[in-house]
Amino acid sequence: MANFTNMKRFLSFLVSICVCLTLSAEVKYVFYLIGDGVGTNQVLAAEMYRAELEGKIDRNRLLMTQLPYCGLVATHSHSNSITDSSAAGTTLATGQKTNNGTLGINYKGDTLTTIAEQLKAQGWGVGLLTTVAIDHATPAAFYAKSSKRDDYYTIGTLLTRSNFDFFAGAGFHKPEPKKGQSGLNLYDLAEQQGYTLVGGVEQAKQKSKEAEKMILVPARDLENRQLEDENLSYVIDGRPEELMLRSLAPVAIDYLAEHHERFFLMIEGGMVDYAGHGRDGATNILETLDFDDAVRVVMDFYNQHPDETLVVVTADHETGGLSLATQKYILNLQVLQHQHCSSWVLSDDLNTLFKAKKKPTWSDVRSILEKRLDFYTEVKLSAEDEAELQDAFRKAVRSRGKAAVKTLYKDVNALGNTAIAIINRQAHLGWTSYGHSAASVPVFAIGQGAEQFTGWMDNTDLVPKIRKAISDQ
Ligand SMILES: [Zn+2]
Repeated sequence: MANFTNMKRFLSFLVSICVCLTLSAEVKYVFYLIGDGVGTNQVLAAEMYRAELEGKIDRNRLLMTQLPYCGLVATHSHSNSITDSSAAGTTLATGQKTNNGTLGINYKGDTLTTIAEQLKAQGWGVGLLTTVAIDHATPAAFYAKSSKRDDYYTIGTLLTRSNFDFFAGAGFHKPEPKKGQSGLNLYDLAEQQGYTLVGGVEQAKQKSKEAEKMILVPARDLENRQLEDENLSYVIDGRPEELMLRSLAPVAIDYLAEHHERFFLMIEGGMVDYAGHGRDGATNILETLDFDDAVRVVMDFYNQHPDETLVVVTADHETGGLSLATQKYILNLQVLQHQHCSSWVLSDDLNTLFKAKKKPTWSDVRSILEKRLDFYTEVKLSAEDEAELQDAFRKAVRSRGKAAVKTLYKDVNALGNTAIAIINRQAHLGWTSYGHSAASVPVFAIGQGAEQFTGWMDNTDLVPKIRKAISDQ
């Protein structure tokens, strides 16, 4: 009899352990971090740059590379070996390949259900946070269905009808309907659909409790609802602290946790890609570090809920064809510390100069280069650098400052572009494209189901793995 009682006790003990294990393995929080244009070399460049600043040849590790599981992801789309952000975003959101330029529809024209839509239908909270416009390709891939990623107004209307709980980033890129389209201003439409609009982090915190759904944008977008916002400012140009990912991510997490027992949050570091398109190494590295700060915020949450959380950090594609070499056996990333603004702001400075003066002198230009790039003071120029710069100056004068280089997001002053190319060459960063490349990108993971994210995989594999982590409980 005693044995039987002991056996019963033992069995009930076993059952309680099983129940505990099952409960502890329940995934309630999924974080999906997407660095736009963050290939393995962008990550390494950021780590080596930080080490060089400390006088070391080493890697000063980012937090993302310290996650326990890591793999490589191939990113080609259905239509080309080199993907664009909409096709890649669609695959990262649905697990299916599609054609470049397409959002939420596969190459056969079938409408796809995204992981965010699926979880929303199951009662989860859903949030999308980015450093670019909230209707830009990567966030839009989670809620929009469109064969035209540039049809921003229509995509914006789909955002307002998504019923997702939280959006944050730069405002709508095209808040007003185009000629021939009809409809309300997108901010007005969003309010009509029950969204509370907040201009900045403080307002978001104040309205967090009462807001049923929230859209957080810079205050400028609510002061002028017609403003065509495209992105936050670059970190290197002094993005305000409250718009850094490290400030926005906690607001997103607190909002979702306050209103939902389970939630899915996508965080995009969207401007690494912009700097890649501009072949701007210093700006690229600082955007990668901002993205890694979002990983840090997510890890703070993870450390409080390790048994219920899955964190996946990856990229949609590589941008710029970045190589960590140009010649010889040398990298000199530390020189980039002397760059004090992005190629965009340098371009604006030079354009302003050429507008203000009919015929600026070399000394006018030189003082801008001294101020913005420490040229001739901390950064010494070789004879080749100097000849190239002088040639670009002569061309700038001949064109009255109008000579420009067309990059995806901005036509930059050609003289400024030459100066940025020179400092990148001094760092020995090799940019081989003004566009994306087919280079593989990393994936890092921690938490429940994270062990699946190892090896050489395809970008179609990520969503099934996330689904498996959630359903295996
Ligand atoms: Zn992209």
